[in-house]
Formats: sequence, C-alpha cells, structure tokens
Amino acid sequence: MIERFKSNAEAIAAADKYLYGNHARMPIVMDKGEGCWVWDLDGNKYLDFVGGIAVNGLGHHHPAIVKALDRAKDMMHCSNYYYNEPAIQVCKMICENSCFDKVFFANSGAEANEGQIKLARKYAKDHGHPERYVVISMLKSFHGRTLATATATGQEIVHNPKWFSPLPEGFRYAEFNNLESVKAQMGDDVCAILTEPVQGEGGVRPASQEFLQGLRDLCDEKGILLMFDEVQVGSGRTGKLFAHQNYGVEPDTCSMAKALGSGVPIGAVCARGEAALTLTPGTHGSTFAGGPLACGLAEATLDTMLHEGVMDNAVKVGEYFRAKLTELSGKHPGTITEVRGMGMINGAELKDNEIGPKIVQKCFEKKVLINCTAGNVLRFIPPLIVTEEEVDIVVKAIDEAMTELGY
Ligand SMILES: *Cc1c(COP(=O)(O)O)cnc(C)c1O
Repeated sequence: MIERFKSNAEAIAAADKYLYGNHARMPIVMDKGEGCWVWDLDGNKYLDFVGGIAVNGLGHHHPAIVKALDRAKDMMHCSNYYYNEPAIQVCKMICENSCFDKVFFANSGAEANEGQIKLARKYAKDHGHPERYVVISMLKSFHGRTLATATATGQEIVHNPKWFSPLPEGFRYAEFNNLESVKAQMGDDVCAILTEPVQGEGGVRPASQEFLQGLRDLCDEKGILLMFDEVQVGSGRTGKLFAHQNYGVEPDTCSMAKALGSGVPIGAVCARGEAALTLTPGTHGSTFAGGPLACGLAEATLDTMLHEGVMDNAVKVGEYFRAKLTELSGKHPGTITEVRGMGMINGAELKDNEIGPKIVQKCFEKKVLINCTAGNVLRFIPPLIVTEEEVDIVVKAIDEAMTELGY
C-alpha cells in the first residue's frame, strides 16, 4: 500500500531524497486542475499561465479529454504492427486542415524533430545527393534535448563542450529573421533548413513574412527541404492549427507535440509531396508512438480545437492580452521594452536579466504562475480557453510585483 503525502512539505522532503535533480522546480506539489486553475497538495489555488509549457491547450480537466481517457480504457496500446482508429483519425484531421499529405507519430517534441532531421537526410540521398546532410537551424532556437536536437538548438549554453561532446555532425546556425545570414551558411552539403515560425524558448519571437517566404524560395531554388518546428506554436496556439498558416508559407515537413495530446506524450511529423514518401518500413519507427491512448487524446484535442471556437478565443483574448501588456509597459516606463506574440503565445521583454526571475517569484507568491525565458522575456502560454478576466488577474499581479520591486 502506498501511503499518500499529506502536504507539500512532506512530498518535497521525499523528492529531495529520491527525485533526480535535473530540473529546477518551484516548491509546490501539483494536485489537480480545472480550466486555467491548479491546486497544490496544501489546497492553495493558483492561476496557471504556464499551462504545462504550452501543453494544456484546452486547460485542465477538459470534459472532452476526460471522455477520451475513458474511451482509451478499452485499449491502451497495440504496437505499430497493427492499425488503430484514433491514429488514423488524427492524421486525417491534420491533413484535411493543412497543406500536408501524411503524418507519422513520435513520443515528444524532440523525437518528432529528430524524425524530421532523419527524413531530410534520407530525402537528399533518395534524390541523388548523398553529399547533403547539413541542417541549417537558427540562433536562439530550441528543438529538444536529444543529442541531435540539442545540437540543432542554436544556443551556446546547450553546446557546452564540458557536457556532452562530441556533438553529432551536420549542423550550422544562422540568424533568425535574417535571410542573408542563412544564405551565408548555405552550401552543397545542406539538406534542409529548420526553424520555428515563432521562436518560443528563444523569447517569443515571431518570424517576419519576408523571412519565412525567403526561406521557402531558397529551399525551392536549392531543391532542399524547409522544415518547421511547431512543437510549441502548433496545435492551435496562434489561432490556426499551424502557426505557418498565419503566413501562408508551406514547409515540406513540420513537427507538432506539446498541446497535441493535452498532456499525454505525443509528437507528430507532418509531410507533404515527395517528403511524405521518404520514410519506408525499416527506416524509422517507434514502439509507443501513435498508440491508441495518445492518439485518442489527440483526436479529442484537435476535434475540440477545430470545432469549438478554441482558436478564435486564442486570437481574441490574445489581442486583449497584448493591449493590456502594452498598457502596463506605459505604467512602468523602461521596464518592459517590447510586447510580442501571436494568438495565445505572448511575451514581455524586460530591460535586463535580473527583473524576470524576481517578477516570476513575486507572482508566485501572489498565486499566479508565469515563466521567464531567454533570460529577460516573461512568457505567457496559458490554456487557449483563457478569459479576459483571467488575463486581468495576471496583468494586475505583474503590475503589483513591479511596483513592489520598485520598477
Ligand atoms: C518543447 C519544444 C521542443 C522539445 O519538446 P520535448 O517534448 O520536450 O522533447 C522542441 N521544439 C520546440 C519549439 C519546443 O518548444
């Protein structure tokens, strides 16, 4: 019999003893959630604008997800030796609502991106270019924590030579939103360009129209693949199923993950044209990926997002949110240097790296959960069902935090 922990303190004491310390955590133990709100083991209630890092797109305890979980009881897993209906339905829904022809599954964002990288290398070889294997990715990007995706991630900090070297070969970096910088990295050895249409971890930075269109033209000219990483900004977050649909620029492949399964681990790679034919039996696969549990939840997630006004809400409340943040920046002159975002991924850039963590801590004390990324950007990725009243609560908490901190 497991004896349940009765308080945050009791659970965290056990965690300190047994849980590996590779994550820095706030000192609360999450117990349950409802919509945009969560409760800890002591019964404290918090407004959640982290949303499981953009995973809880429909919020906590959404009735459609609860229903899908119930259905999944009949079959949790069956392997990829066989078909299962939820997996087929998810692929159908994605393809019918995008430029893509086919979808394959993974278990996480990193694994989906790893799949894209493998696909790009094989695509080059299939098309008579064995010399092409380099992927150009962007500085300030984030693509995951596996060796290849950590290498694709354009941040010095994850390439620390004292950590995991030697890193896999075949990656070069260019400046985001700078087409000339990408062209400077181009060569006969390049098989693909990989970018997020809106950088998430890098500080909520939307690509410019010219940049994404320029990448598309460049890839067409060279006969190489354009690959988007929409692990964070896909699945409805920007008000469309895919962020790139806001630009009208179609990649050859695109990854999804975070919000796709409403909390159950799932990743997906969507592909079109020739890129949808590259991975054949034996070249790529997975034991767990595309199973009925994960796909059953993804099916319910997408169905709800596409048909229940969730993405429209993300657009409407997102606009309201940015207006409120802009108002706030006027109230604390010089503290917020820029407000950026698209739909329900929004950020407020701060004047330096000291303020962010202090504001996050102050808000935490006010029982409002937010996060700071890229050192100085407050990032807001709440459930897409968030209301204007909930936005008001968060903006008020930040306002008070800034005043208390003397900004
Ligand atoms: C979170 C994230 C990943 C990694 O996803 P995991 O599921 O943590 O492996 C990759 N790319 C982007 C853009 C992300 O935001």
